[in-house]
Amino acid sequence: MGAQTIITEGHDPYRLPTGARPTRYDVRLRPSLDDASFSGEVRIKLDVERWIDELVLNAAELEIHGCQIDGIDASWELEESTERLFVRPSLSIAEGETTLVVQFDGVLNDKLRGFYRSTYVDDNGNAQVIATTQMESTDCRRAFPCWDEPEFKAVFGVTLDVADGLAAISNAPEIERSTSGGRTTIVFADTMVMSTYLVALVVGKLEATEAVDVDGTPLRVVHVPGKDHLTAFGLDVGAFCLRWFQDYYSLAYPGDKVDLVALPDFAAGAMENLGCITFRESLLLVDPETSTQSERQVVTDVVAHELAHMWFGDLVTMRWWNGIWLNEAFATFMEVAADEAYRPEWERWTSFGIERSVAFETDSLASTRPVEFEVRSPDDCEGMFDVLTYQKGGALLRMLEQYLGEDHFREGVSYYLRTHSYGNTETNDLWDAIEITTGEPVRRLMDSWIWQPGFPLVTATLTDIDGASAVVLDQRRFRFDDDAGKDDGGESPLWVVPVHVRNGDTITKVLLDAAQTAEPIVLSDPDGPVVVNAGGHGFFRVAYDSELRARLDRAALASLGTLERYNLVDDAWSATIAGRLSAAELLTFLEGFSDEREHTVWQAIVTALRGLSRLTDDAAFDAFQQRVRSLAGPALERLGEPTTGESDLAGKLRGLLTSTIGGLGGDLGVQARCRELFDTASHDPSQVDPELTAAATSVVATSGDAETYERMLAGIESGSTPQEQLRHLYALAEFDDEALIIRTCEFALSDAVKSQNAPFLIRLAIANQRHGPAAWSLVRDNWDEANDRFPSNTIVRMIDTVKLLNTPDLVDDVSAFFAEHPIDQAIKTMDQILERQRVNTALRTRESARFSIALTPHR
Ligand SMILES: [Zn+2]
Repeated sequence: MGAQTIITEGHDPYRLPTGARPTRYDVRLRPSLDDASFSGEVRIKLDVERWIDELVLNAAELEIHGCQIDGIDASWELEESTERLFVRPSLSIAEGETTLVVQFDGVLNDKLRGFYRSTYVDDNGNAQVIATTQMESTDCRRAFPCWDEPEFKAVFGVTLDVADGLAAISNAPEIERSTSGGRTTIVFADTMVMSTYLVALVVGKLEATEAVDVDGTPLRVVHVPGKDHLTAFGLDVGAFCLRWFQDYYSLAYPGDKVDLVALPDFAAGAMENLGCITFRESLLLVDPETSTQSERQVVTDVVAHELAHMWFGDLVTMRWWNGIWLNEAFATFMEVAADEAYRPEWERWTSFGIERSVAFETDSLASTRPVEFEVRSPDDCEGMFDVLTYQKGGALLRMLEQYLGEDHFREGVSYYLRTHSYGNTETNDLWDAIEITTGEPVRRLMDSWIWQPGFPLVTATLTDIDGASAVVLDQRRFRFDDDAGKDDGGESPLWVVPVHVRNGDTITKVLLDAAQTAEPIVLSDPDGPVVVNAGGHGFFRVAYDSELRARLDRAALASLGTLERYNLVDDAWSATIAGRLSAAELLTFLEGFSDEREHTVWQAIVTALRGLSRLTDDAAFDAFQQRVRSLAGPALERLGEPTTGESDLAGKLRGLLTSTIGGLGGDLGVQARCRELFDTASHDPSQVDPELTAAATSVVATSGDAETYERMLAGIESGSTPQEQLRHLYALAEFDDEALIIRTCEFALSDAVKSQNAPFLIRLAIANQRHGPAAWSLVRDNWDEANDRFPSNTIVRMIDTVKLLNTPDLVDDVSAFFAEHPIDQAIKTMDQILERQRVNTALRTRESARFSIALTPHR
């Protein structure tokens, strides 16, 4: 059962007919960086399955100059609305092999898709241009005419004709070059059989590191000149992951070489082009000495994620874009698994809880969607790149892996990849492969999670069976707004939930596939604590009855795993949003964690505190800040000053507590200390622990004035790494001054900020606690300008934070605006943002007064 089966060939204007299939492309492109244009010719070898009168392929924003079929001129027509090129010969084409040749011109656009232009200023102050590509999902057709659907796999032979002195890189290694008349022609080896969305071309003044030999595969980092000193970490991660994946999958790397290419302008984070992986600079180039653990972890995540795709995605590819979720979910799962192997001390599977929570947030809404979803148009496709695809999908795979056992899961994955190498698949093919190797009902289990929206709340209730203590589990859908679910007719959907329950030394594994467990779980330690979702990897929330909750006291907490404690805090915060726990009760509950020592748990506590701060009246705000300081202060004191040899996570926790106490807690002493640290680090970054530098940058902005703002601006220019530059840039959104926040938004809309970063700066400005509404209104008034400037996939991310604008007036304003200005490439995500804004507003309306009174009982 898949969305693809209901689309009939010939009736869907977005799908190409299958009568002719490309087997090989010879693509020759001649980019001209100075005038941002290119010309080219593509020669496509086709396997024609039956007599046909026309060839239908994809092309967009290209000027076609000629088409020939088997050497004879043919007429053509380019249909802009559906991005299709119809080529019609004077005589029908017979079955067998046919060659189509097309000549064309195009523009190197500034929209960061297809064949586009990226710019940077070199060390001598000269503007430099790079021509590069981003083909996924459906933009290869903007670089050359092609059968631009993942199922039409073919071999690509690329030739680039570039001005002398420029580097040129593609998926396969260079095999030949010749020079004449100021131009160099570079021929690349043939690729393996692959989809069009994986083709990559990069041309410009670029440098490459020496290749590292990874068991026979050369691995390099490619970058703009002058950044060689930031490449060692990425190379180390890349080499580790390439080996680790070959081992995990039991399959050799399918390409000939790997280049990791850092680009100054990139709309997504990174892209898994076979052998030529492209990245934002900040996600590949990093200085281990001056970066935070988060900054190194994100580089590790992204390098691992893209390398995981070389097999899962590139070697074996989804048949159609409805399968994109599995592609991305799997790479998300593998990035965390590879990180855990690379740096076990980072406890990456524990911190993945934080990302899973982001998926829970969206999936608690009535407007969520099933993970697998019908995709027809390019806009539908763009809409799939969301938290439900990546984070929920990745979390579901983790839950399955933990249920089956890591080795059994891995064997199934390896079997799947070996069976389907160079082919295309449906989601079921993976479940079937794992079912074959494990004998477990994988398809039944996973179908319940991917075809229905949402997730369950599992409630544990203490009971008594023949005098023995036991626990009954039941499930129903978790929602923030229970009224929104009334159209279900009151019946909750059911999931096949793998639940691990721990009591004493016993872990019981249950497959809860009905509304309630058939057999209660008898407790081996009748009075001891019971942990539902033991290990913490299940994609569900848990509620305990009052007796079971009372057993999870301070002493019991200490015996729980870190992810289990994280889940308790995260479940409590979501219970507050859903109206099952008051804000005051939540704060008291959080205060029970004052002995907590783990960063991930503190991250959940801080997220909840930030949420509570948005419910607090001005009159009660001082009292709230006092509570924040009392809760987090002792934890910061316990950590003391940074010491050599302390763990990365201890440093990270110190950073989090410092920014929380100095920012949210408004602590004057911490603010003063942060100003000192910021001053010292501005002169010599090596003098301050990077975690403290990052925290101080944020705190200084939160409590800073116009002069501080100027220093922050200067820091963007003078920052010596992409990470330092971004810390200063994003701190511009944290000032507590309306004029400065407006200035930040205007700055984001100017040429001074790269369009890959500007939408995220605006997103943070809208999230500003007191001046978000001013940022929103500026964006609203400059909506067309923002849409012109920024990559289309970033528009919805830019305004995601309007969900925090939690007053009825702003709900009306925001929803009226988007009714008039829909974001076509993100209709579903937009519905979710608007619903979440209503949920947040209901929360504030419900809690604000009584929470503020609870904070200041004597006012
Ligand atoms: Zn990916």
